Amino acid sequence: MKREEAIQTIQSKKDPWDIIVIGGGASGLGIALDAATRNFSVLLLEQNDFAKGTSSRSTKLIHGGVRYLQQGDVSLVFEALRERGILRQNAPHLIHDLSFVIPTYDWWGGPFYTIGLKVYDMMAGKLGLGPSQHLSKKETVNAIPTVEQKELRGGVIYHDGQFDDARMAISIAQTAHDYGATLINYFKVTDLIKEDDLVSGVTAIDKETSVQYTIKSKVVINATGVFSNEILRMDNPSARDMIKPSQGVHIVVDKDFLPGKHAVLIPQTSDGRVLFAVPWYNKVILGTTDTIVGQSDLEPKATQEEINFILNNAAKYLAKDPKMEDIRSVFAGLRPLAAPEGDEVPTKEISRHHKVLVSITGLITITGGKWTTYRKMAEDTVDKAILVGGLADRPCLTEKVLIHGYLKDINFDDPLHFYGSDTDQILRLGLEEKQYGGILSESLSLRKSQVVWAVREEMARTLEDVLARRTRALFLDAKETLRIAEKTAKIIAIELNKDDLWVKNELNYFYKLAENYLPKI
Ligand SMILES: Cc1cc2nc3c(=O)[nH]c(=O)nc-3n(C[C@H](O)[C@H](O)[C@H](O)COP(=O)(O)OP(=O)(O)OC[C@H]3O[C@@H](n4cnc5c(N)ncnc54)[C@H](O)[C@@H]3O)c2cc1C
Repeated sequence: MKREEAIQTIQSKKDPWDIIVIGGGASGLGIALDAATRNFSVLLLEQNDFAKGTSSRSTKLIHGGVRYLQQGDVSLVFEALRERGILRQNAPHLIHDLSFVIPTYDWWGGPFYTIGLKVYDMMAGKLGLGPSQHLSKKETVNAIPTVEQKELRGGVIYHDGQFDDARMAISIAQTAHDYGATLINYFKVTDLIKEDDLVSGVTAIDKETSVQYTIKSKVVINATGVFSNEILRMDNPSARDMIKPSQGVHIVVDKDFLPGKHAVLIPQTSDGRVLFAVPWYNKVILGTTDTIVGQSDLEPKATQEEINFILNNAAKYLAKDPKMEDIRSVFAGLRPLAAPEGDEVPTKEISRHHKVLVSITGLITITGGKWTTYRKMAEDTVDKAILVGGLADRPCLTEKVLIHGYLKDINFDDPLHFYGSDTDQILRLGLEEKQYGGILSESLSLRKSQVVWAVREEMARTLEDVLARRTRALFLDAKETLRIAEKTAKIIAIELNKDDLWVKNELNYFYKLAENYLPKI
């Protein structure tokens, strides 16, 4: 994936594209992949970096959603469990099984969750990851040595999947590119163009050069997540809001708070939701929250109240209480919840089902959904695009499309595992180009060659792209990331042929950004 090549393709294309996708998160990337594998010409435009928005800020679960089962949303759970199975088959280097323990503190908790999770197992059918089981108190403590033992009665263990969201996004982008899609970051759609009142393309600006483009297509798809309302208003200035953003915060702490290989699901927080404690790389993610916010932001900020909520609820279930000073990173994301018409509905009850909407002008908008169901969302959206754009009726192929880097029998303890079959090339790069051999950060297991690879092969354009999404340094340990920022920026500058002023500006921007990820004690 080379940005210069993508620009050349845009400039040289004479006919309209079959499909333009606005937005490079899970939804947009999935659509680009689906469309490319059906042999449509497809262009994806992302205003910032791929997965800069919600798609790098999830809880990192590929799951059926035990919580939705509790809410009686059986069809959503069925769909998500099926997609979980497909994803594991197509991206075994990116998704691994994770067992979750629900500790129980009252007499009914054990039987209640055991029965519920048996239903969950049954619904997964052949694609199940292992049977759920009731645990005695002793077994629960063996599985989670740091669990709060006061009044503990036992627990239940069940299985789901885990992934690295931003890495998955890049791998889907690369797969789409491998199949012929054109994808470009830092390219913002500024308006829609119309012919005879029908949407016939977009105007967009290359944010690196400020050059403006008018690009035609048979279909335009709005996959902008929490920014969907803005695109809908480009189409119709009086369009009603389709999206209601709801903020979810996570905090990251050291592994000693949850030293084993199991995750913990806290079934009942003080606001009636669930909270996860999930091992991720060599850290633990705690979250999340659910707070309606007034406006969409690419860099949402966690409030002290949200951080306290997570710390307090986690403390009830962990023997050692996590404190502000234990936090290594804080990140917030916005859920693109489909806004229900009419009366206010609590966010936790708004359906996570996706919806594909077609405006009277032919603009297609995909809203809602989950990372786990991105493939099905893309299938439904491209099916709609075929009808709207009068495109050739070709069937969806993505159930069988292997994701870039596909490799089986992965050692998930290897810090480079997510590169899959690309891993050897990254290691070789470090050996062949001596200046890029060696480690940038021991504690983050980050190599110099990863930085170079990100720029050369994964369209990373900024220091933030490399440290927040191509590697997950900023999300894992903000302070350590600041320590290596300058060295990293200098490597990127050499690769992108940038000068000292560029390095200085990148660092200034990054230091300010990192403040959002550093808890203020
Ligand atoms: C706290 C939280 C936890 C979650 N946990 C999970 C989980 O564990 N498992 C799971 O399956 N799902 C989870 N989800 C849901 C999942 O993350 C989202 O459903 C998914 O990431 C949404 O992707 P998207 O592509 O629709 O939106 P985004 O990722 O936000 O992508 C939209 C993109 O559009 C771009 N854009 C906007 N305007 C323009 C424009 N004018 N021109 C060009 N580009 C534009 C934005 O820059 C952005 O990158 C979670 C969500 C949240 C908030």
